[in-house]
Amino acid sequence: MELKKRILVTGGAGFLGSHLCDRLLAQGHDVICVDNCFTGTKRNIYHLMDDPRFEFLRHDVTFPLYLEIDEIYNLACPASPVHYQHDPVQTTKTCVHGSINMLGLAKRTRARIMQASTSEVYGDPEQHPQREPYWGHVNPIGPRSCYDEGKRCAETLFMDYRRQHKVRIKIARIFNTYGPRMHPCDGRVVSNFIVQALKGESITVYGDGSQTRSFCYVDDMIEAFVRLMATGDDFTGPVNLGNPGEFTIMELAEKVVAMTGSRSKIEVRPLPFDDPRQRQPDIGLARSMLDWEPKVPLEQGLAATIAYFDDFLRQGDAVAAG
Ligand code: NAD
Ligand code: UDP
Ligand code: UDP
Repeated sequence: MELKKRILVTGGAGFLGSHLCDRLLAQGHDVICVDNCFTGTKRNIYHLMDDPRFEFLRHDVTFPLYLEIDEIYNLACPASPVHYQHDPVQTTKTCVHGSINMLGLAKRTRARIMQASTSEVYGDPEQHPQREPYWGHVNPIGPRSCYDEGKRCAETLFMDYRRQHKVRIKIARIFNTYGPRMHPCDGRVVSNFIVQALKGESITVYGDGSQTRSFCYVDDMIEAFVRLMATGDDFTGPVNLGNPGEFTIMELAEKVVAMTGSRSKIEVRPLPFDDPRQRQPDIGLARSMLDWEPKVPLEQGLAATIAYFDDFLRQGDAVAAG
């Protein structure tokens, strides 16, 4: 039996964080969820509030935090372009000051700490698929830079805290992940298309829809987090986590329309500035180090996500109807 631990999940009221809290509690651990509720919501963790092993702290990780814990998953950070560009200075502060505080906490308590990094550290990649040794192609002064460069600096801090202070670190480079509890208005493509299809609104495809992304279902991603944290201290990453199945955005739009039976039409909109053309993880390292690969096919994950948003929108209608 695994030893019971006290585990801190920052960003724990968000999409990935709330699923991670579920998983860690199910494994028998004590979980402290820290979140400032910028993009996350207590709705995502209501079902955990009565669990005596679960604790929620409303706190901004850019400020110091003193707790006694065994492990930290540092997920706090707005993740979608709409949200991270809303207050770009706060985004960089969350990545940089947030990481310094969580690394300081890990150093003092000798906790293991995992950073939720991102495929955005590769920018608009010139190598395809992306492997971990690739240094990336990132614009340092564009609208996406607060996030991309913030996350790159966080990786630097993690590596330096290891070299300088022997902190036990793990870096996960997460590729596009989707599933229930995504924010319905955060502008990410899967949530946008599903909500639009369910409401019968136009499906907004940016550009000609030929750009590609690789979509990983949330359950597969959480499994990878837990496996990464359990690796020996010699393995720090960075390690790519994602589903290598690559789809064009137009294919995704067509799939969502077909699966929802929606009468929505596809509407072409301008491509955002700096939008990466192609993205696909090479997960060879994760396969060998974590003995992991995604199991949930896109159709199955989309079906679960559509069911979630259908329920979510019906509840919203019920509230609006009084
Ligand atoms: P999310 O927006 O649902 O979750 C992020 C959470 O962090 C939210 O609950 C938010 O309120 C909280 N937060 C933001 N700033 C904070 C601060 N200063 N202090 C405390 N809490 C703060 O997004 P998500 O998709 O669950 O992403 C979680 C992590 O994974 C993020 O770090 C994100 O960069 C990373 N990531 C996600 C994806 C993806 O496809 N979902 C891809 C790459 C990386
Ligand atoms: N810190 C924290 N919780 C702790 C320990 C440290 O939030 O339990 C913060 C602290 O505010 C500091 C940062 O983490 O600014 C970095 O800590 P470190 O020990 O590396 O730096 P120092 O305190 O020496 O500046
Ligand atoms: N996208 C789109 N319509 C939308 C939202 C996004 O065509 O309503 C496109 C976007 O331009 C990008 C891809 O879908 O090419 C993925 O966008 P998302 O914001 O989900 O993630 P990221 O760009 O960070 O990978």
